Amino acid sequence: MTDVRCKQKQIAVIIITLILLCSCLSNYVYAEGISDQKNVLVINSYHQGLTWSKDETDGIIDVLKKHNNNISIIEYMDWKNYPTDENKLHLFEYYKYKYQNKRIDVLIVTDDTALEFALENRKSLFSNAPIVFCGVNQDGIANITRGQVNLTGVLEEVDPTNTIKMALQINPSLKSVYVLFDNSESGVSTGELVIDKIKAMDMKLNIIPLNNLPYDELIKNVRGYNDDSIILVTTYYSDVNGKIVNFENVSREVSKNSNVPVYHLYDFGLNNGAVGGTMMSGKLQGMSAGNLAVRLLDGENPDNIPFTSPKTTRSVFDFQQLKRFNIPLSMIPKDYEIINKPFSFFETYKTLVLSVLAVFILLITFVYILLIHIRQIKKMDKNLFDSHEELTQIYEELEASDEEIRQQYDEVLTINERIRTSEEKLTYLAFHDTLTGLPNKLSLFENSNKNIFILTENKVALLFLDIDNFKYINDTLGHDFGDQLMIKVSERLASLLKENCSIYRLSGDEFIIIIKDIKEEGAGEVFASHIIDGFKEEFHVINSVLHVSLSIGITVCPEHGNDLEELLKYADIAMYRAKDAGRNRYVVYEQLMNEVLIERMNIEKYLHTALEKNEFEIYYQPQLDLESNKITGLEALMRWKSPELGFVSPLKFIKVAEDTHLIIPLGAWILRNSCAFLKKLHLKGYTCLTVSVNVSILQLLQIDFNDMVVDILEFFGLEPNYLELEITESILMESFETIGIKLESLREMGVRIALDDFGTGYSSLNYLKQLPISTLKIDKSFIDEITCENISETLTGQIIMLGKSMGMCIIAEGVERQEQLEYLINQECHKIQGYICSKPIPEGEIEKLLEISLVKNLFSLGGNVNE
Ligand code: C2E
Ligand code: MG
Ligand code: MG
Repeated sequence: MTDVRCKQKQIAVIIITLILLCSCLSNYVYAEGISDQKNVLVINSYHQGLTWSKDETDGIIDVLKKHNNNISIIEYMDWKNYPTDENKLHLFEYYKYKYQNKRIDVLIVTDDTALEFALENRKSLFSNAPIVFCGVNQDGIANITRGQVNLTGVLEEVDPTNTIKMALQINPSLKSVYVLFDNSESGVSTGELVIDKIKAMDMKLNIIPLNNLPYDELIKNVRGYNDDSIILVTTYYSDVNGKIVNFENVSREVSKNSNVPVYHLYDFGLNNGAVGGTMMSGKLQGMSAGNLAVRLLDGENPDNIPFTSPKTTRSVFDFQQLKRFNIPLSMIPKDYEIINKPFSFFETYKTLVLSVLAVFILLITFVYILLIHIRQIKKMDKNLFDSHEELTQIYEELEASDEEIRQQYDEVLTINERIRTSEEKLTYLAFHDTLTGLPNKLSLFENSNKNIFILTENKVALLFLDIDNFKYINDTLGHDFGDQLMIKVSERLASLLKENCSIYRLSGDEFIIIIKDIKEEGAGEVFASHIIDGFKEEFHVINSVLHVSLSIGITVCPEHGNDLEELLKYADIAMYRAKDAGRNRYVVYEQLMNEVLIERMNIEKYLHTALEKNEFEIYYQPQLDLESNKITGLEALMRWKSPELGFVSPLKFIKVAEDTHLIIPLGAWILRNSCAFLKKLHLKGYTCLTVSVNVSILQLLQIDFNDMVVDILEFFGLEPNYLELEITESILMESFETIGIKLESLREMGVRIALDDFGTGYSSLNYLKQLPISTLKIDKSFIDEITCENISETLTGQIIMLGKSMGMCIIAEGVERQEQLEYLINQECHKIQGYICSKPIPEGEIEKLLEISLVKNLFSLGGNVNE
């Protein structure tokens, strides 16, 4: 037990020893820490609780707190309440006792009294610490410091200029400024400073000091100020009677009772009735002093830091006071602080609100764009739907029409097949003659295009065949007979063809035979005579037996030409030669025959000027009436005596005149002159005479032809039935339709129409029935056939008979011989015209002839006046 107690004692001793050790150590450490700390003593001139002093102290402590852990000791001299030397004495004793063992590193003093006290006593009381002052204005500082060193500080700059300017801005009619200050040393100093500064502004303001009124009167007084005044409170801690007052309370009361705004020199006036202005801030003063103290604590020499006057004012207005005096906020510059403003969400959260607004606008825009897009999409959707509908419809229609198209396609195929068959037929028809089945003219030219003439080494012969007098067989025996005969002729020709021959029906009664690969000279002629021989055998057509002969013209390639046209042209010329030579023969083309062409060119050359050169003359050939044996008519026949070409036959130049259209003036000329001559004869007493004038188709085709005829007849006073217009058969057939109407009209007038050269053309008597023909002139070629031997076989008699049956006057042309005349008399032909009676003779001779014929009956059968 004793051991245990012993041990416990030992442990307790150890613990106590350790505790003592620790406490010694901690004290040492604490003492070390204290030795590093600096002491700053703040002595305020006034009492604790005075706002100004409080603000200054707060400012100082704020700064010092930020700077290390310096200990600040705050003292208050309470000079406002005890402004006596006795107070100072007490304070001296108190501080002496309090700080005898305390080192003061920096002494901060606020306002004048504290500065004075510190300067006087720092040596004895405050370790002769350097001094930093604040709250002392520029006027007071020199008196107080009196050349002392080891101090620096912040000067309080009393300057109401900005506040007055602002008051003037708010109320431009401002006239009076009531300056409130007390009569204490600092009050008077501040008040006078303020008044001086306002005066220096030179704004003609009435400055009224308010330092000589007892407090109650002051309150009463402020109630009666005019609108053009303000109150400027500076320093007021006691009234004129020395009654100590609370500055803040005074400020509030003055403001409450005043009708005009109360401006304040110090910012503690705010919330104590001050409207605002540029106000001195105790806190800012304190902070500046604090900053200087820090510098001194950091080792700076205070004498190296001059007294400073930093900006220690606040530009501020009280919103509630502004509202009270109806001062719009807009009058207050933007850099002024506004206090007591009611809470404004926008103002407070401006950035947030603006950001939210921006985001909202952005969202709205986005939504709007989205809506537009949705609308567009909807529209597109609708369009798509519509298009789909349309397409479906079209598709259905297409499906329907597809079936139709298929049907139409089948139809087209059938039609195509038909067209192909028709084309084949048409091609056949185009290249073949329908009557005889022989290849036609087109086929001939088609083959010639294949160069049948050039691409052959051997010669080629072209035979141009024309049936003699076929037209007249056709006319007299009828078309059906003619057609049957044509078929038989074709068959006969085909049967006579040889291996290298091909045959074509050119037109009417014309055929072409091409003989290729001719190896022997004269093969064309041999073949031609082979054909002529083949036609010696008679034809049996519709119960009739008749002989048919051919006239053949022959051309040979390459002698006469290399192309079909050339060969055809020359073969045609040769064929006509064969006809001229008496038909039923062949003629081979010769170069000489071409001279006709050259002659024609010469005629054309001189014909142009012949009329104006008066180279024409009219001859007249009498027409003898066989019944009365008298000259009853004259045929006017053109004569051209060209100085260059000599006498040119009308058979030659009339064709050229037609081709060159010169026949129009020429025809008019002969019509006019022959009528003139007839009129002359009528006047001489040959009143029964008629005149026959040959008329060309070109004349008849002129629109004014009938008018011209009428004009001429009227001009000479001739009855129309004394004029006979001769037109050739070929003319008539070519322009049957056009000319028919004109002839009809002329005939209706009484003009006679004669069909000239009947028998040389292609007309049938059936056609003639439809035309107003009054006279039929049988061509000389028929008359020539009337010979003693064949009198019974000639066609002339039949023509006369037919013509008469149609009520026409029949004139036989080219009557030369007695037997012809006799035959014609026997056939009771009405009239004759021919050399047997008279050749065509000039005007003068006609007159003589007529005179003689009046005296004697010269035209007895067989007589000839020209003999
Ligand atoms: P055409 O109108 O048939 O005239 C009759 C032709 O036969 C005249 O020839 C005439 O001289 C001739 N002639 C009359 N009797 C005989 C005869 O017994 N023997 C012979 N060998 N010939 C006879 P021409 O005057 O040479 O006239 C030939 C053709 O020229 C006329 O044939 C007529 O078609 C045409 N012609 C003449 N003058 C004119 C005219 O002024 N105008 C027109 N358009 N044609 C005219
Ligand atoms: Mg005639
Ligand atoms: Mg004639």
